[in-house]
Amino acid sequence: MKIVHTFEEARDDARGRLGLVPTMGFLHEGHLSLVEKAASVSDFTVVTIFVNPLQFSDEGDLETYPRDLERDATLAEAAGADLVVAPSVAYMYPEPLRTFVTVAGATASMEGLHRPGHFEGVATVVAKLFAGIRPDMAFFGRKDAQQLAVISTVAQDLSFPVRVVGCPVVREQDGLALSSRNIRLDSSHRADARALSIGLMHGADLIESGLDDASELTHRTAQSISDAGDVAIDYVELADAATALPVGNVGGRQFLAVAARVGPVRLLDSISIDDGVVDRGLVLSSPSILYGGS
Ligand code: AMP
Repeated sequence: MKIVHTFEEARDDARGRLGLVPTMGFLHEGHLSLVEKAASVSDFTVVTIFVNPLQFSDEGDLETYPRDLERDATLAEAAGADLVVAPSVAYMYPEPLRTFVTVAGATASMEGLHRPGHFEGVATVVAKLFAGIRPDMAFFGRKDAQQLAVISTVAQDLSFPVRVVGCPVVREQDGLALSSRNIRLDSSHRADARALSIGLMHGADLIESGLDDASELTHRTAQSISDAGDVAIDYVELADAATALPVGNVGGRQFLAVAARVGPVRLLDSISIDDGVVDRGLVLSSPSILYGGS
């Protein structure tokens, strides 16, 4: 698999309708589902691998974030990618960095409150990827549903000619949403981490049985999470899918999101709702490649 480090090299290689899958690497089946989707509808699929320091507020989290470019390139190629772009921090952010992308509204709740500066980092790096690589389509997971709303807003407000495509959450066999950070959970924390998806699936059941009030839904979902494992919940929120603004009732395109700390790791998960119909995501039929299988 060819790996390049600059946007110029990426544009030289690209041809036809260009699909982009931005990632921070240490790929798992969630990322690979985005690559497969991109490859199925694009002439040329680019996977970017960049651990973006601007979006980390916790220095320790940045330092311990797993990295393995060779492994990622092999996996990306098998999933249908044509090129891996792995820019350096110095290339992406020549000093001094003077321009940042700030999004109002969609960043006012949930991750925006708990991780100050996080979405400015996300919006800035994604704007640079859109400007530098010039994709026709870009693919993002709905696990990070608020991030998807923020990125869609950036594309729309800054007139990037890109279609932003949201894709289903991929889960491990016991329901835990795949995340590169899952490998930092020891066996006891790994067992506790199940609580997030257990709670969300309970929330899904409540929605499907007709519960409509957001505060009762989020309260009962949070209770289910707390009952299922030793986790510290940051929030459980029902929000509009396009604006990421919290809503009072079930209806239209929404997501139910949770963020919680499990031992040393902070995890996010969400389910998508379309007029009361829930998309719970996809579940792997075998253990994840994160744990050393192939
Ligand atoms: P990351 O490498 O964590 O920044 O994620 C890169 C992209 O993969 C983002 O669009 C994420 O939403 C997406 N992603 C991460 N985990 C999953 C998952 N379990 N299912 C689907 N998409 C995911």
